[in-house]
Amino acid sequence: MVKELVENALDAGGTRIRVDLEQGGIELVRVSDDGSGIPRDELPLALEPHATSKVASQDELERIGTLGFRGEALASIASVSRMSIRSRTAEESGASVIATEGGLGTTIKPAAGPIGTSVEVRTLFFNTPARRKFLRTVATEQSKCVDVVRDLAISHPGVGFTLVCDGRVQLDVPAGQTPRARALAVVGEELAEQFIEVTADELDDGRGVALWGLVGRPSIARATRGAQHVFVRGRAVRDRTIQHAIQEAFRGLIEPSRFPAAVLLIEMSPAAVDVNVHPQKAEVRFRDSGVVHSVVFHAVKRALQGADLTPSVAALGQTLGAKAAWNGGPRAVLPGDGAGNHQQNSIQGPIDGAARFVEYFSRSTPSGGRLSYQSLREALSANDIAGIAEEAGAKLAPAEVESEGAIPVASPAIRHMQVHNSYVVTQDAQGVVIVDQHALHERVMFEGLLARVSAGNLESQTLLTPVVIDAAASQVDRLDGLLELMTRLGVVAEPMGPRSVAVRAFPTFLLERGVDPKEFMGDLLERAESAAFDPSAEETLRDVLDMMACKAAIKAGDRLDETQLRALLDLREQVERSSNCPHGRPTSVRLTIGELDKLFGRS
Ligand code: ADP
Ligand code: MG
Repeated sequence: MVKELVENALDAGGTRIRVDLEQGGIELVRVSDDGSGIPRDELPLALEPHATSKVASQDELERIGTLGFRGEALASIASVSRMSIRSRTAEESGASVIATEGGLGTTIKPAAGPIGTSVEVRTLFFNTPARRKFLRTVATEQSKCVDVVRDLAISHPGVGFTLVCDGRVQLDVPAGQTPRARALAVVGEELAEQFIEVTADELDDGRGVALWGLVGRPSIARATRGAQHVFVRGRAVRDRTIQHAIQEAFRGLIEPSRFPAAVLLIEMSPAAVDVNVHPQKAEVRFRDSGVVHSVVFHAVKRALQGADLTPSVAALGQTLGAKAAWNGGPRAVLPGDGAGNHQQNSIQGPIDGAARFVEYFSRSTPSGGRLSYQSLREALSANDIAGIAEEAGAKLAPAEVESEGAIPVASPAIRHMQVHNSYVVTQDAQGVVIVDQHALHERVMFEGLLARVSAGNLESQTLLTPVVIDAAASQVDRLDGLLELMTRLGVVAEPMGPRSVAVRAFPTFLLERGVDPKEFMGDLLERAESAAFDPSAEETLRDVLDMMACKAAIKAGDRLDETQLRALLDLREQVERSSNCPHGRPTSVRLTIGELDKLFGRS
């Protein structure tokens, strides 16, 4: 109901929309706008079923530009509530009010009031007690209403919105904001630093999909999709294809059970998407969902690759605090949560699709001179970390490595130290960086392995004498099913009798890193026993590569000499997504100068 009423206000060209709720909307929903108004003599028509002012000719049905056109909302809301509409057009000298109870008969009276419309709905379902009982708690109904208004606010940055629940201002954003300012105003301006801008200007390249948005850094990913706001042609949607594309782009940066925060505004031609497959229009059908997936995935991935994702200590602190709050106790009120109590100022308005994007595309984020993955992969041919770094270094002109304003972390002039044989401390342009040596190295190994397996060139060598391991009969039985996976990994193993398995070949890379084939095979067989294990899934390959990487990586507790330290830090600069380990945990954190200044009371 709130959505229908606000959409009517938007269709009427309102530039300021105010929503008042009492008792989560159960007692009162009032939506007021400064739009076109309804002429006095048409007020009764507005309440008639199937009466709309939004389609003037048969032709127009083919290209609906308004959010509504069926003429059903007001009539059906009127039939289950006490409704009144006060309205005034620019031509009229005063307003009029039409009122009805349960849609039975109407009265019209003159009234005082500004140009625009105010629709008031009281005691919802007063005449259908059975349905009234099915309303949720005030808190639940309110939080759903808040979500709806926030989404409408994000998708209409030009329109001002005010939302007041039982006298408390929940959202207040001015008219005429940019999409960015609006999105941040709604999700929480204090999180501005935590968001990375995403753009894809594909309207012109024939694929017909453009997008602009913000994605949250891995450190603010959440346990639900509550912080994902996705819009297609200005409508809030929940779409699996898009959700999947976002999740894929974050793969390796967050733990799989967490969901990135995101605001994505996606534009495409009306012909490319059917928005009328769902009663609330929350689901859409794309003509080509593959294209949509690809545009979203690549845009988000590109944005992440262009960003420095090392979390600051302060940001981590926020996340840790938030995590603690989610694990019980009163629900923390975070931006993007339906329960939204947060106070901040922000607003928005109707969108002009193309113009909106052009503005954003014209200043796309430079991704900096990052090392391409290809050149890194070539460089990763050695197994010794120092060797890897030297080779990588040799292939790179310094200008290529340095991204704008950043001090190359491991330039020889810059000191670094190993702490308790587990962490490496160094500095960069923004402050102090602390690296988890195992997590970072594991990440690097993982990327290297993945690149080689994907290219089909993970070198493997035949063992002089097969390594024989004891296994359960059930494990031996499963070996056949693992054949393809093992082949991709460069492992050759076969049953040797009912209770043992012989490993005949093993990846050279792992042997050189001292990984024991016996231990690896034992772990693999154990994993394969779980019901969830699907040897053909890409996910499984990643899991197993991750297991390899973990075993091959330097450990916490390993002492590193000067060259190794420098090599490790070089790798950090060079490997894509080095900021997080394959599990999505951070490999390094940064204590910024600003944070240090705060700690020492300098600012
Ligand atoms: P629809 O939006 O599909 O046309 P509704 O039942 O929501 O149907 O509204 C019926 C009609 O009432 C609209 O076509 C419009 O003419 C008028 N109307 C409703 N809300 C407003 C408003 N806020 N400002 C101006 N006209 C409105
Ligand atoms: Mg409508």
